[in-house]
Formats: sequence, structure tokens, C-alpha cells
Amino acid sequence: MCKVLYIGRSKRCLQDRLAENKYAIRVGNEDYPMARHYKSLHHGDAAAIQAMGIVHVPASIRKGDRLKQLNQRECFWIYKLQTTKYPGCN
Ligand SMILES: [Zn+2]
Repeated sequence: MCKVLYIGRSKRCLQDRLAENKYAIRVGNEDYPMARHYKSLHHGDAAAIQAMGIVHVPASIRKGDRLKQLNQRECFWIYKLQTTKYPGCN
């Protein structure tokens, strides 16, 4: 079982973000870190991919403030879970 972690923020809902990553994996779009990982280690098969939300930043927050909060939360969790190095994928 693969234990690689990837942290990614999204302005959209988690399902849409996950679908985008799965599509990138399927077509081998290496602009996406997850696609690079799945291509090199899982033969492009995203069947085992799992995702969960960590933080929800309400859409009711003013647009610029929300993006700032999303970026701050993303950075926080990337460093908290140390996903810039293995087994991280950021
Ligand atoms: Zn993997």
C-alpha cells in the first residue's frame, strides 16, 4: 500500500478537485504532482487514491481573503505533515 501524502487547496469542492486530479492521472498530465507519482509508481492507475478534507474555508468570506486563508492553511498543513519530502508529494 502506498502511503504518499499530497496537500492541495482548492477554491472548488473536494469532489471536483479530486476528479481533476484523477483526470490528470488518467491522461498523464505531469503538471500535476499526483499524476507524476501515479504514472511512475502505479502505472497511471488512480483506483487506490483516497482523499479527505482537512479544513473548510467558507465561500462566504470575501474572495481575496478566502484565497489568502486557503493558501495559508495549505502551507500550514504541508509543513505540519512535512509533505515536501517523502512520503510527501508536494
Ligand atoms: Zn503511491
